[in-house]
Amino acid sequence: MTVLSPTWTALLYLVAAVCFILALKGLSSPRTARRGNLVGAAGALLAVVTVFLSTRLENVPAILAAIVVGSAIAAPVARRVKMTQMPQLVALFNGVGGGAAALVALLELSHNADPWARLAIVFTVLIGAISFAGSGVTFAKLQELITTRPVVFAGMRWVMSAVLLLAVGGGAAIVPTGSVVLAVVLLAIGLAAGVLLVLPVGGADVPIVISLLNAFTGLAVAASGIVLGNVLLVVAGTLVGASGTILTRAMASAMGRSVSGILFGAFRGGSTAGSTVLSERPVRSSSAEDVAVLLGYAQRVVVVPGYGLAVAQGQHTMVELAAALEARGVEVVYGIHPVAGRMPGHMNVLLAEANVPYESLREMAEVNPEFKTTDVALVVGANDVVNPAAKSSPGSPIFGMPILEVSDARQVVFLKRSMRPGFAGIENELLYDPKTTLLFGDAKESLGKVLNAVKAL
Ligand code: NDP
Repeated sequence: MTVLSPTWTALLYLVAAVCFILALKGLSSPRTARRGNLVGAAGALLAVVTVFLSTRLENVPAILAAIVVGSAIAAPVARRVKMTQMPQLVALFNGVGGGAAALVALLELSHNADPWARLAIVFTVLIGAISFAGSGVTFAKLQELITTRPVVFAGMRWVMSAVLLLAVGGGAAIVPTGSVVLAVVLLAIGLAAGVLLVLPVGGADVPIVISLLNAFTGLAVAASGIVLGNVLLVVAGTLVGASGTILTRAMASAMGRSVSGILFGAFRGGSTAGSTVLSERPVRSSSAEDVAVLLGYAQRVVVVPGYGLAVAQGQHTMVELAAALEARGVEVVYGIHPVAGRMPGHMNVLLAEANVPYESLREMAEVNPEFKTTDVALVVGANDVVNPAAKSSPGSPIFGMPILEVSDARQVVFLKRSMRPGFAGIENELLYDPKTTLLFGDAKESLGKVLNAVKAL
């Protein structure tokens, strides 16, 4: 027996759908993102409860057990994960969503004879499997379990073409026959396609692929909604698919990339080159006191935060240093690159946490012309986003990505621990430039030392 009438069910689904739309709206600004997230979670809870109250469910104990096990794993993981590991978590959750949609569709095949529904099943199984496997590879890249550089092998483009042909052929055979065996084969083909699609993506392009896979999962979920006849799944999946697509395009254009170039660039030999062998040329390293003098007697300083600042959790010390410099009459602003850190908006979130005033933040297009009149560019734990190889080395994995033009500043100071490269795994010529000074050490500790030295000036 079901508790809710179809009218009440539709009404509650509508409320949940509105929650999802409001959540997306809230997530568009750091100020409202927290509330947006809570509204979205409330919508999801409402949707789940509505399903229980409106559907004649079988296997309820197994469903409840799955919910308990899933929550018991996900809640502590989400609580414990560090901010810098958030993209890996998002990749994992996204992949699991795609995988779940694929499995649900697969199970529906045996009792669904309608050719349109079977077409939706084929689509869901294939796209869900691609999203699951592709997200697994991005997780491994972000967690640095495998190399972050593009991985290609001889004949890869032919293997990929063969896999895609098999997928189309397999899908076309499933629609008239409804063969579950073929659907399982299609699932395996989708998994292979997901791995092959993401392996060649490297360097700075991984964030865009995460967003693309997110859109894939949305589409798979929407298609599974058609299979199950559940309108809310269609709405939620379409929202994820559409917002993921918009984000993918926005990120690709911010990085000066085309989505096809990102996915297939390495096949064309465009982004595999670049050296991981670090040269042993001399660099100019300096003490915290010397850096304090450079900063303390400057008129204008642009701070460029990056992934290393987030790792060191040095944002509060950095704000204290900015305040000490401002007290001496130095103008301090922050130059934010769209893919600095490990997730879109990472630096904005980090700096908002340390209460950096919004007026001090400058987007890349705004700050780049200002470097020419900047005395010191203070690069704190950033590397790829200031690497001139993006402009000068056509073979480099980051070639074509717009960068923060810190080399236009009179002096450049890098705070980092070693000569190790950034996420893209390539050397940064700017570290060897005569106008560059390096202060080696953990960013938080270095900032603390420079702060004390500025106070002592
Ligand atoms: P990078 O990864 O290029 O460089 C980070 C630098 O921080 C390294 O040179 C590292 O050098 C230094 N570092 C690490 N830990 C510390 C520490 N504790 N103290 C001081 N320095 C430290 O970061 P960027 O922000 O410049 O660029 C982001 C990269 O990540 C881009 O390639 C981007 O495409 C990619 N990416 C971005 C995502 C996004 O959505 N924003 C998602 C996924 C990837 P050392 O080890 O010597 O200290």
